[in-house]
Amino acid sequence: MKKILNLMLVGSMLFCIYSCEQPEEESPALEEVSSEIYDKLDRLGFNTVDYPVIKYNGQLIVENDIVINLSELDDLSNASQLPTAEQYSTNNLVTATPRTISVYVNSSFSQNYFDGTDEAIARYNAENLTLTFQRVSSSSQADIVINPSPWYYGLFGILGSAGFPTASGNPYDEILMTRSYYDGVTNIDGLATTIAHEMGHCIGFRHTDYMDRSFSCGGSPDDEGAGSTGANHIPGTPTGPEAGSWMLACGSVNLDRPFTSSDKTALDYLY
Ligand SMILES: [Zn+2]
Repeated sequence: MKKILNLMLVGSMLFCIYSCEQPEEESPALEEVSSEIYDKLDRLGFNTVDYPVIKYNGQLIVENDIVINLSELDDLSNASQLPTAEQYSTNNLVTATPRTISVYVNSSFSQNYFDGTDEAIARYNAENLTLTFQRVSSSSQADIVINPSPWYYGLFGILGSAGFPTASGNPYDEILMTRSYYDGVTNIDGLATTIAHEMGHCIGFRHTDYMDRSFSCGGSPDDEGAGSTGANHIPGTPTGPEAGSWMLACGSVNLDRPFTSSDKTALDYLY
């Protein structure tokens, strides 16, 4: 808790600096996370120790990039199983396959994001899955819309975010990308990796190193725990963290992580 309070303090200081520079920005008003919510997230197997849980505008952001609507938290908590790693999936997967998932990139983004999305889509489609991704030019037809993230993502070091599939078998419908990191990116493969990572969450992948985020994030070892939302191990893939997986919890702006052989096994197994 002390760590969280310190972080909130740093956050408010940074906000002060930021707001002075950009006075027209909307005030963030991050909200306090109750112990009841922490308990539910812990039971779902999310790491709430190494990364603060951010609560804002009816949503939680956990493990630095996974968005959970407060209204869905109880549904997740009531699920009989939870997701697992890289090879770990959520209980809710995209159904009605074979299926084409359309992806729309907000037109306010620069060309980098269109190129990065096309590269991410190409990586998935090269695996001949029962899910085929396609970039579309209208948001009204899109299954997944890629939008700019709110400014405070940059404060917390969040490169992008997404959520898990719905109980009715649809992919999570929004990816948020942090422009302060990627507008000037020099390595499109790094941007493609982050977009592919967020797409992975949208179709039900949890973090490969969910059992120990120190593997990719550094710091002290910590077990994210399977809890009960379902960290279901995918047969034929390592039970421990795998170097280079696209679903490792932590990455960096320019770091390219194309699918490893185990990533491909996991994708092929689920889809
Ligand atoms: Zn992630």
